[in-house]
Amino acid sequence: MSENNVNITIANRLATAHDKMTIAIQKAGRQVNDVSLIAVSKTMSCDKVQQAYDAGQRKFGENYAQELQEKAQQLQSLQGIEWHFIGPIQSNKTAIVAQNAHWVDSIDRVKIAKRLDQHCQALGKKLNILVQVNISQSPSKAGIPLQDVDSFIDELREFKSLTVRGLMAIPDAYEDKSIQNKEFQALHTCFLQLQHKHISIDTLSLGMTADMEDAILFGSTMIRLGTAIFGPRVS
Ligand SMILES: *Cc1c(COP(=O)(O)O)cnc(C)c1O
Repeated sequence: MSENNVNITIANRLATAHDKMTIAIQKAGRQVNDVSLIAVSKTMSCDKVQQAYDAGQRKFGENYAQELQEKAQQLQSLQGIEWHFIGPIQSNKTAIVAQNAHWVDSIDRVKIAKRLDQHCQALGKKLNILVQVNISQSPSKAGIPLQDVDSFIDELREFKSLTVRGLMAIPDAYEDKSIQNKEFQALHTCFLQLQHKHISIDTLSLGMTADMEDAILFGSTMIRLGTAIFGPRVS
């Protein structure tokens, strides 16, 4: 059966994703509980998010502030649902994101962090954040260079409503796995060093459908899957 078959339910796809994750986790000699799954629900209806929730999924990723707001508000009765904002943030959208997200996984500017912190202070809430790292050093990609991560996190420490939980990266797709693996290795080393320095750091968000196995091998604690769970996006 093809992955695009409409008769495959979201529950089926989630089960398959968990099976694949479990195999990769065991192959890496890690514990199943070490790696969580973000279901990337951008462009998907609230009904589909609800189906995933009913199948046990709790963490969802969104890329657009307005869409996050609509879904978070419509689905606010779902106990324990956790919204991750994983896209680029414009400064005029920080209020909406602060209001509706539990995590922002794509922080790469102090200015944005500062605004999120101010909104969260006013709301009396804490926000978990991940620093986005441009591990492939692509000019077109978001994220800060790996060598700047340490000082960047030091700058974020003044924002008392933000809790820095770790790092996120979206690598380039490589034909040559050895380049990818070098980048994953460097990111993981940086993550381990940060964990020694900051008690709050416990999350490395790395890996999508195509590179999930390698990401898990190189210490990812958070995989992001969209198409694999909800099917292809129509847009
Ligand atoms: C869309 C998106 C994903 C999921 O992509 P798929 O190819 O649908 O699995 C993961 N991470 C980020 C940051 C995304 O924007």
